[in-house]
Amino acid sequence: MNSSSDFLVVGAGIFGVTTALELRSRGYRVTLIDPGPLPYPLAASTDVSKVVRMEYGEDLQYMRMVIRAIEGFHCWNEEFGEELYHETGVMVVSQLPMSSGDYLDSSYRAVLEEGLQPERLSADEIRERFPAWDTGRYVDGFYHARGGYAESGRVVGKLVEKAAEAGVAVRPGQTAEELLSNGSRVQGVQTREGESFAADHTVLAAGSWTPWLLPELQKVMTATGHPIFHLKPKDSSLFTPPGFVVFLADTPRTGWYGFPLLREGIVKVARHGGGPALHPEHDERVVYEEDFSQMRAFLEEAMPALLDAEITYTRRCLYNDTLDEHFWIDRHPEKEGLSVATGGSGHGFKFGPVFGELIADVVEGKPNDWAPKFRWRELDPETLGVEASRFHGDAEEV
Ligand SMILES: Cc1cc2nc3c(=O)[nH]c(=O)nc-3n(C[C@H](O)[C@H](O)[C@H](O)COP(=O)(O)OP(=O)(O)OC[C@H]3O[C@@H](n4cnc5c(N)ncnc54)[C@H](O)[C@@H]3O)c2cc1C
Repeated sequence: MNSSSDFLVVGAGIFGVTTALELRSRGYRVTLIDPGPLPYPLAASTDVSKVVRMEYGEDLQYMRMVIRAIEGFHCWNEEFGEELYHETGVMVVSQLPMSSGDYLDSSYRAVLEEGLQPERLSADEIRERFPAWDTGRYVDGFYHARGGYAESGRVVGKLVEKAAEAGVAVRPGQTAEELLSNGSRVQGVQTREGESFAADHTVLAAGSWTPWLLPELQKVMTATGHPIFHLKPKDSSLFTPPGFVVFLADTPRTGWYGFPLLREGIVKVARHGGGPALHPEHDERVVYEEDFSQMRAFLEEAMPALLDAEITYTRRCLYNDTLDEHFWIDRHPEKEGLSVATGGSGHGFKFGPVFGELIADVVEGKPNDWAPKFRWRELDPETLGVEASRFHGDAEEV
């Protein structure tokens, strides 16, 4: 048996590593295990970029959490000595004029009322300011300077380094397989590699793998697969900020969003919509032919200059989707010594800088204003997802 910790964190994605760091800073002995190498290549957090935007429709809690998270990303840039959060601004555009209560309108009003300064864009302004968007298909929208993207895999890499420096026992090469229990009390985990890790409290933060470790979660969350494309533009000058920024291209109706030219020399385009349920370990995670054709159709109507770009990389990345699309952060209601921090549902990374404090408060049993939204909850199988920016169904005819 490995020496005992106060807290064992299972999974070193953004949920787990921030939890481990925060618990360590509160003086606890913390162990962090992951199959590794870190950042783990198949983790949802391990990617070249993730959108950081506060546009969450009417959901003011998420908006305020992102406002705090953005402050945190700036601090991380300082601490890392490297800019891994890029505040390019975010462009939110729509194929229909803004209309009362839609995602565009409610997000725009929410940030305005928060005292921020989104800039409304007409169809002409979209084309003039962002010349790659020259089809006229997008007729309304806004640009918000406060937002951008994080180089997520690199961020996790830096946080893992910081955790090790701070005294977290970081153990890549260890895959939790089974909870060790005494009656209803969880006492740690046994790993596939044959080691046992004992702890007073275990936090499962294994992303899409979590419901396989704790099957009672399978009725409320599922791993779903979503396509990502890297496109190498022929003329990259069209795709660099400020003339091209992180964009949400009418995501509630289409799901498509993307990033300006990244350091890899590519424009990344992805779709925040529905995806097939997949097993995190028993699937090739490839992009399907229909994903390619849908992506080409999107480029035709949004930015034809990318149609002849070479596709240098594709990937199907896993969301750990809860039925209502809110995160799942709580102590287990029946198993003592066990908490869960997961359910990223395709929008979790941007909250990294606020997760540590939130999750550590919950596992310590301290009050936290943001925690009730993410509590352990009964959800009807018919529960619909409510993440406002996400495409939830068939495209509307526009
Ligand atoms: C295609 C795609 C696009 C996305 N875009 C955005 C975006 O633009 N903005 C945004 O904010 N969010 C985005 N997200 C969501 C975001 O990536 C996730 O919410 C977040 O990264 C989830 O972090 P996590 O720590 O829960 O999971 P993960 O990052 O998957 O980490 C889980 C960790 O657990 C480890 N693990 C697994 N099994 C075990 C085990 N048995 N024992 C020990 N460790 C284990 C894994 O190795 C992994 O390191 C996107 C997700 C996807 C898939």
